[in-house]
Amino acid sequence: MSQSTLLDNSSAISSSMNTSSFDQDAFNSKVMNTYDRFPIAIARGEGCRLWDTEGKEYLDFVAGIATCTLGHAHPALVETVTQQIKKVHHVSNFYYIPEQGRLAQWLVEHSCADKVFFCNSGAEANEAAIKLVRKYAHTVLDFLEQPVILTAKASFHGRTLATITATGQPKYQKDFEPLVEGFAYVPYNDITAVENAIADIDEGNRRVAAIMIEPLQGEGGVRPGDLEYFLRLRKICDENNILLVFDEVQVGVGRSGKLWGYENLGVEPDIFTSAKGLAGGIPIGAMLCKDFCAVFEPGSHASTFGGNPFACAAALTVLQTIESENILQNVQARGEQLRVKLRAIAHQYPYLFKEVRGWGLIDGLELQADIELTSIDIVKAAMNESLLLAPAGPKVLRFVPPLIVSETEVDEAAQKLEKAITAVS
Ligand SMILES: *Cc1c(COP(=O)(O)O)cnc(C)c1O
Repeated sequence: MSQSTLLDNSSAISSSMNTSSFDQDAFNSKVMNTYDRFPIAIARGEGCRLWDTEGKEYLDFVAGIATCTLGHAHPALVETVTQQIKKVHHVSNFYYIPEQGRLAQWLVEHSCADKVFFCNSGAEANEAAIKLVRKYAHTVLDFLEQPVILTAKASFHGRTLATITATGQPKYQKDFEPLVEGFAYVPYNDITAVENAIADIDEGNRRVAAIMIEPLQGEGGVRPGDLEYFLRLRKICDENNILLVFDEVQVGVGRSGKLWGYENLGVEPDIFTSAKGLAGGIPIGAMLCKDFCAVFEPGSHASTFGGNPFACAAALTVLQTIESENILQNVQARGEQLRVKLRAIAHQYPYLFKEVRGWGLIDGLELQADIELTSIDIVKAAMNESLLLAPAGPKVLRFVPPLIVSETEVDEAAQKLEKAITAVS
């Protein structure tokens, strides 16, 4: 997940920042050393604000990595999870779960999909998609024996073995070989590369069965998909019996200003995955697909926790709140406001910043490649100004606030960012 980007810059996270009375050494002596954490401990949150254990307040433009859709302690979500845990929170898929059925119904009515499989994270949702592609290839696509899934370079699809293999970034795969067979990589937004890869891979029983891709690359640097590229991709898939799989784990559920990222591209996937923002921070994952490729049968795939009443009730509340409070409109307006502010900042410091890009409330500010300053340096400086930001790789700052962020909060974030930049430049 996105903490990976923190890890990559481990040495850069200095201890020069304020340390809190929270006992970090005790924590580090027992919790496995997989994240290089910033030296604050979060005690509570409300709306777009977080407070650390020292009582310091922060404006949260990370939202648990594009996850806390409704911010922190949203009354509707608090009410739902409180009621649901009193009623029943987990029973297993031995039985029908009404909340799961209602969530699936909502998702199908509000997307291009016909069927939903529930799990607990983005990586799991992508694993399910990979397994579905393979089963479809083996059982429907000419009994294809060696199905290959094409993914994009600089993509991110998760941390399980199959999903680090799908992830087109060698740094996530290093030391975990042997990787899973049946993946190949092409540069993002490059249609010729896709055409060439399909031709190259077509050999005997080995053929491209699916293209798995993010509508906007999140971890890879907040890079939106190209409209023309995605239109061509859809056409190539149709003409060659290739499944088009979208990883909507970060960009889905309203973050792009539309409910689904693919709505920004004018094409529909055959399969797509969702997770981060779906239940507003309660763990959930979903793999959705059209009927023609819904080839899983009893026994094909399963998850103990997947689709439990607690997570499904939370997700349903998040989705219904997005609808009833016109949150997509807010995402579009606040996103536009944010990008205007960021462009002004980029314009003011042309030697530091290269570009602003994004959709809705997933936006990136790219640093110039030839300077020493990294995204982590600015994230740390922003934290000193009580603004929480996330990096998306060493050269891109990522802005993914809760979707309920207000006009004043966006202004406030821009002011804090300017101060942070002044401090490091
Ligand atoms: C975060 C992310 C994942 C992995 O999700 P986890 O819940 O951390 O397993 C997969 N794909 C994309 C696009 C993501 O942003």
